[in-house]
Amino acid sequence: MKTYPNYSFTSILGWSVSRYETFKNCKRAYYYNYYGKYDEQVPVDVINDLKKLTSIPLEKGNITHDIIRDILIRYTKTSANIDRVKLFTYIHKMIKSYCNKKVFSEVYYKQITKIDLEEIFNEVKQAVINLFNSNRFKWLISKAMESKQEWIIEPGGFGETRFNDLKAYCKVDYFFPLGDEYYILDWKTGHYAPEKHRKQMLAYALWAKDTYQLTSEQINPILAFLLPNYLEIGEPFTLEELTQFNQVIHKETQEMHSFCANIEDNIPLVKDNFPQTDKYIICSFCNFRKLCNLSNL
Ligand code: SF4
Repeated sequence: MKTYPNYSFTSILGWSVSRYETFKNCKRAYYYNYYGKYDEQVPVDVINDLKKLTSIPLEKGNITHDIIRDILIRYTKTSANIDRVKLFTYIHKMIKSYCNKKVFSEVYYKQITKIDLEEIFNEVKQAVINLFNSNRFKWLISKAMESKQEWIIEPGGFGETRFNDLKAYCKVDYFFPLGDEYYILDWKTGHYAPEKHRKQMLAYALWAKDTYQLTSEQINPILAFLLPNYLEIGEPFTLEELTQFNQVIHKETQEMHSFCANIEDNIPLVKDNFPQTDKYIICSFCNFRKLCNLSNL
C-alpha cells in the first residue's frame, strides 16, 4: 500500500493536532516550540535544550509505542508465539537506553531527584500485557494476519500530507485493510482527552479517506487505551463530520498564519505578539517555565 508521498520542501507551516493544541494553549510556548531561532532575548541553545526535555508520561508512551511497533513488525515476519521473558528483557533494555539519554522535566525542575526506571518498566510491561490479553490482539494475530503484507506500522518521516491542498502532518500508529474495511489503531497510555483525541482520529480518518479514496463508512478509527485496563473508543465518522473537519483545519491554519510576518517563509511576528497564558495549570506541564520565571510550579 502506498503511504505518504514525498513532497518538495516548502517553508510554509503545516497544520497538525499537536501544533494547533500548543498554539491554542499558550502563544509563548508555541513561539518557543516553533520559532525559537528568532528569539532575540533567549539564546536558541537554551530554548532547544528546554524543548528537548521529556517527561515520565511522555516516555512511557514513547517506549510502549516502540515496543508495540516492534511486536507488530515481528508478526509480519513470523506468527510464532512471543517469548515473554525475552520480551520483558527487551523492554528493560529499551527503557534504560531511552531514559539514560534524556533529561526529564520532573528532574530538571526538581520535582523528583531521580527517575524510577522500574516504575516505568512496570507500566510499560502492564500496557503490553493488557494488549496481549485483549480480544483485539487475538483478532490481530488471527483474522487481521490475512492482510499483514499491507500493514502500515508507524511509518517513518513526519507524516507530511495535504488536506485540501493545505500542508499538514498526520502520522498513524497502525493502519491496515481487511476485506473492504480499513482500520486505524492509535495506542494510548494516558487518560482519555475527548476533544483532542477526537480531532486526532478525525485527522487520521480524513488522511485515510483522501489517500486511499475510501468512503467514510469503510474507515474504522479506534483509540486503544492500554492502561489501567484495555479499553477501546471509536466508531466511523460520517462524511459530513470529515467535511466539516476539513473546514476546521482550514480555519486553524489561518489562525496560525495570522501570527506570521511572512506566511510563505513561515517567519513569525515579533515575540511580543505571542503572550504568555494566564492558566497556570498549562504552565505546570510546560518545558519553558524557566523562561517565564515559573520554575517553582
Ligand atoms: S510556562 Fe506557561 S506562559 Fe510560559 S511558555 Fe509555558 S505555558 Fe506559556
